[in-house]
Amino acid sequence: MGRYVYDFAEGGKDQKDLLGGKGANLAEMTRLGLPVPPGFTITTDACRVYLAEGHEPEGLAEEVDRHLARLEERMGRRLGNPDDPLLVSVRSGAKFSMPGMMDTVLNIGLGDHSVEGLIRQSGGNERFAWDSYRRLLSMFGQTVLGLGSHDFEQELDRLKDERGASSDLDLTAEDLRGLVKTYQGLVREHSGRDFPQDPREQLGLAIRAVFDSWNTERATIYRRRERIPADLGTAVNVGAMVFGNGGADSGTGVAFTRDPATGAQGVYGDYLQNAQGEDVVAGIRNTVPLHDLETIDKACYDELLGIMATLERHYRDLCDIEFTIEHGTLWMLQTRVGKRTAQAAFRIASELVDEGLIDLDEALQRVNGAQLATLMFPRFDDRHERHLLGTGMNASPGAAVGRAVFDSHTAAEWAERGEDVILVRRETNPDDLKGMVAARGILTSRGGKTSHAAVVARGMGRTCVCGAESLDVDVRARRFTCADGTVVSEGDVISIDGTTGDIFAGEVPVMDSLVVRHFEGDTTADDETVRAVARLMEHADRTRRMEVRANADTPDDAARARRFGAQGIGLCRTEHMFLGDRRELVEHLIIAETHEEQEAALEALLPRQREDFIGILEAMDGLPVTVRLIDPPLHEFLPDLTDLAVLVAHEDDAGNPDSRHHRLLEAVKRMHEQNPMLGLRGVRLGIALPGLFAMQTRAVLEAAAARLEAGGDPRPEIMVPLVASAEEFEIVRAEVERVAAEVQDAAGREIPYTVGTMIELPRAVLTADRIAATAEFFSFGTNDLTQMTWGFSRDDVESSFFSTYLEKGVFGVSPFETLDVDGVGALVRYAAQRGRAARPDLHLGVCGEHGGDPESIHFFEGVGLDYVSCSPFRVPIARLEAARAVPR
Ligand code: ADP
Ligand code: MG
Ligand code: MG
Repeated sequence: MGRYVYDFAEGGKDQKDLLGGKGANLAEMTRLGLPVPPGFTITTDACRVYLAEGHEPEGLAEEVDRHLARLEERMGRRLGNPDDPLLVSVRSGAKFSMPGMMDTVLNIGLGDHSVEGLIRQSGGNERFAWDSYRRLLSMFGQTVLGLGSHDFEQELDRLKDERGASSDLDLTAEDLRGLVKTYQGLVREHSGRDFPQDPREQLGLAIRAVFDSWNTERATIYRRRERIPADLGTAVNVGAMVFGNGGADSGTGVAFTRDPATGAQGVYGDYLQNAQGEDVVAGIRNTVPLHDLETIDKACYDELLGIMATLERHYRDLCDIEFTIEHGTLWMLQTRVGKRTAQAAFRIASELVDEGLIDLDEALQRVNGAQLATLMFPRFDDRHERHLLGTGMNASPGAAVGRAVFDSHTAAEWAERGEDVILVRRETNPDDLKGMVAARGILTSRGGKTSHAAVVARGMGRTCVCGAESLDVDVRARRFTCADGTVVSEGDVISIDGTTGDIFAGEVPVMDSLVVRHFEGDTTADDETVRAVARLMEHADRTRRMEVRANADTPDDAARARRFGAQGIGLCRTEHMFLGDRRELVEHLIIAETHEEQEAALEALLPRQREDFIGILEAMDGLPVTVRLIDPPLHEFLPDLTDLAVLVAHEDDAGNPDSRHHRLLEAVKRMHEQNPMLGLRGVRLGIALPGLFAMQTRAVLEAAAARLEAGGDPRPEIMVPLVASAEEFEIVRAEVERVAAEVQDAAGREIPYTVGTMIELPRAVLTADRIAATAEFFSFGTNDLTQMTWGFSRDDVESSFFSTYLEKGVFGVSPFETLDVDGVGALVRYAAQRGRAARPDLHLGVCGEHGGDPESIHFFEGVGLDYVSCSPFRVPIARLEAARAVPR
């Protein structure tokens, strides 16, 4: 038989698995000799048995009895003794704190007889005794018997109204005694039974209720959101009561050892006189700042400060605490390492290093990429009044204000004349790119966090709220209608918060991120947070093994990425270089029927491509730039089949046929695909349309030659997309080498370059050794690899069944957000091993969205990749997480 109960004097802070966070820390404080009311903890093991078997583990009741007897002996009081009762609290406490999610019952042990004993015990304080009893009834009624809190609140409010009382303090002992009667009636009426007078029965029922609270709906939802495993269970803490509600020389409070909002040193907290338990956070009366305790009870205040200093030194971190003062005696009821804002996290970590409590390695573990991200995005000033129009998905953080516009062209035009605009669409496609670049923010009513709008916006560091389904977007009428009937028309100003997904009417003032200004090299951007971030980033760069590159397609993006610390470009997409005003040139290519026409079309694209690459290589001078040969899902480049057919029909009817349109229509029909994502794209297009990859290769290498000529240090890497077999790769590689020889001849000099491939198809993974025989690097394209491994198309599934899958727990988080380690991750590991076996110096990186995702980065470190590549804005986050991932 196991052991299920531990005295507070037996455990310690590292036993959270067994004792829960609250219990482990109560034990730790007890061991430190701090004034903790004695008690014991029933383990999470007991809870797990209870939840699995539907009844308490055998022997638990006897074990509780034994510990209870010891507690009674220490306190010199007995539970339920009508003359001098011991009262206890029964408190939940899981491994991870779940604030407000689970239950606690105070004052267990009171009944109609022992309440008289409590009066005597307290020297005749009737008010206190009845106050304690009514609290027990309300907490027990809610937690154990399933009554609603409003049932009790209603009665309390009614009584206060009757007495003209503004707070519970104005109620007399007689009032509270009446309230006890009322509450007992409520309990009888709602639960069909009398409030149990037997204190041991109260205790047993309360313990079971705490076990049960693990599986309440709100606890389940909270765990899912916070990714807390569902099978941990909670511990139960039973401790002697101390009373803050016995008069003005008593009270209860909460405190932090530093400011959890800013991280500043100093004592923060709230205190409430003559109160018990939750009163201080429940807002029933106005609390006073902790500092005022100094005048109320100097001795307790000084003792408390001393204890807080002890706790900080001991835990080497910010702690939050709960305490109660009983007639001038201080009691510690809880402590834990406290939650804090991102800003506070950085500042505290850095200052703890200064104080010699932790070293820089440890400091890195005290902050994370998600926190850094929140520090990098501008935020709306929430002190300002705001009119919420709706809420969508927080796809790309930031705060953007601008006039609503409903198409890409208008967005670009208005931006050109200096207007801030928000591009509003039902959903976006590659044709909207120009407008997305021009806009301050992007708002869509459809699509998930990895929809086109979201991915592109994140890539650009552009604020985006997507999938705001309550908005009815009418692009033609140039307006959207909100659930509350508000209509926003083109030109109206709106504010969107990509961090929360909120959409507001009008202009909400924005606060700048100092941290970004610092990364951008603005030396006037300076405060405690910036200094702390800078210091920890420096250490992160010293610590990490993996390099961090950026996904960047333009010289501007490349330059920004470099300022943010990118050590090269891991993915330069070339698709967009074929869009916009170059579409016409691409059309020539598409309708080309003869070899000559094709050559001419490519010839016309060459100089533009070369210019593109010169700019990027210059911005990344001395650093590697991985250029991915074009990988379009073809449909994104072709005019819409229906539109074109209608156009051609109209022209024909009007007797005014345009042969170019006819030829284009033929070509589009010819190339129409059922499943473009599985169609003629990547290396397949390169092989099917000879000359295209050769043109791009030539552009890259001629750009490199030009940079060499100008005294630069270009380091191009040519990357072949969507390779499934070594044969495909070898065909392209031979072509690249042929072109390279020509360019080098013409330039009269050696041009450094490498050729490698994306790994984004399961077949490429399985044949990685053969591909590595000729490929110099692999870059895992984990977006496609995820699609191809799961067999679903991202654009389709995210908006359809993903929410159901998340709800049913098929996955805890979208595999497009965080790498699916078991499936896709296993493929990455396999390809890395096989590839390296064939070519030990094979360079390995990742360039999907996952390259900027903290959890995924930790996985990539473990697999031994050489670098991760992510959008420029995520580069600092990846730098930090890559360092945090290094095994210590
Ligand atoms: P939570 O996990 O929600 O913080 P707790 O178990 O800490 O809930 O208890 C709720 C309130 O009751 C807290 O304010 C706590 O300080 C108070 N409390 C708990 N145990 C005792 C006790 N033995 N004596 C006095 N107050 C207590
Ligand atoms: Mg608490
Ligand atoms: Mg791909």
